[in-house]
Amino acid sequence: MNQSEEEILRLLENVFDPEIPVLNIVEMGIVRSVNIVQNEYRIEITPTYSGCPAMHTIEKDILDLLNSHGIKNVKIKRIYSPAWTTDCFSESTKTKLKEYGIAPPVINIKEEFLKINRTCPFCDSDKTKTISEFGSTSCKSLHYCDDCRQPFEYFKCI
Ligand SMILES: [Zn+2]
Repeated sequence: MNQSEEEILRLLENVFDPEIPVLNIVEMGIVRSVNIVQNEYRIEITPTYSGCPAMHTIEKDILDLLNSHGIKNVKIKRIYSPAWTTDCFSESTKTKLKEYGIAPPVINIKEEFLKINRTCPFCDSDKTKTISEFGSTSCKSLHYCDDCRQPFEYFKCI
């Protein structure tokens, strides 16, 4: 094996979430582990959302990237337990989401239900309303800010 597990992990930071192109799959917590087992790189990934069609794209992107570096013996396994949660997002990841124009998930699921108005990622106003519980993907909901008069998406807490 020419590359170490850490080197593979670093390469995987070049694979971005198809829904949120500013976040890579390592910082999103999609990549759970990289292990060398019997001359094979075994990569475990966790779907961010059970219905997200992005996983196919992500698996293909991982294989394409590693193949382009001459790494062929790769096996990707999806693991569902423990389930992925937005609690995995670090503060810097949330900042990137906000800068991208998507309101990052609030701290935990309990707050998610208590908080009615999403905070606008552009002007930080709470005077917003929900347009649709489902935005461009089922992971996101769609909102409108009454202050800066812009629609925005909220990344749902799961
Ligand atoms: Zn606003």
